[in-house]
Amino acid sequence: MSTRTPLMAGNWKMNLDHQQAIQTLQKLAWTLKDAKHDFSAVEVAVLPPFTDLRSVQTLVDADKLEIVYGAQDVSAFTSGAYTGEISPVFLAKLGVTYVAIGHSERREHHNESDRLVNAKIKSALGAGVIPILCVGEDIDTRRAAAHVQHTLLQLEGALEDISAEQAKTIVVAYEPVWAIGTGETATPEDAQEMAEAIRGRLAELYDRDTADAVRVLYGGSVKSSNVASIMAKPDVDGALVGGASLDPEEFAKIARYQ
Ligand code: PEP
Repeated sequence: MSTRTPLMAGNWKMNLDHQQAIQTLQKLAWTLKDAKHDFSAVEVAVLPPFTDLRSVQTLVDADKLEIVYGAQDVSAFTSGAYTGEISPVFLAKLGVTYVAIGHSERREHHNESDRLVNAKIKSALGAGVIPILCVGEDIDTRRAAAHVQHTLLQLEGALEDISAEQAKTIVVAYEPVWAIGTGETATPEDAQEMAEAIRGRLAELYDRDTADAVRVLYGGSVKSSNVASIMAKPDVDGALVGGASLDPEEFAKIARYQ
């Protein structure tokens, strides 16, 4: 029996300005409250754009919400001449719990390498912000049946020089690129295959305790209609949800996956 608390994280991507963020978060909180959601059983997080974070913090604090929040990216540096970058220290000061690192959209549009992902993970950990490390293969890699090898190489690169103590706190999100925003979902068996492989590699890199502590999420066109079958898999500990998290009622259903 796993002691890992499932995590349902909504990646809003570049959607919802700070006013829309408040409305969406309020509606999500009301819907989960109506459903008597037990946050100690399933953690719920939203990852808004940077410019929404202060408003989200204000609402969470004022209404004592149990929903936690995160950012979608972070700088590899803590301060200095890095125009346009956001320090992990600033995120921590805004009460941010999580930060997505190495999302496939950043790897694709901003050429983020495993080396940079590794530097960002260290930077987030240094400020006490929990990385949600995103890994996963594109369609050509899957067709070539090289998806496991590819994803585990991304994992290893991202975790270079990260201690077991630190690794235990990290969340890994397996997100096959071909399933992100496409409406095409990996099968629950695909999600389990990779989650198990990720956990197996963590046990090799560290030890069994560390591997058993790390939460592995699945991401890629998760909806209320497919979440339960994915969550039924033993190595899947939650979901990173993009498009469907913009609809608070749908995201609340996903978070409850019943
Ligand atoms: C994501 O952005 O991480 C994601 C999984 O998106 P979607 O759910 O829209 O496929």
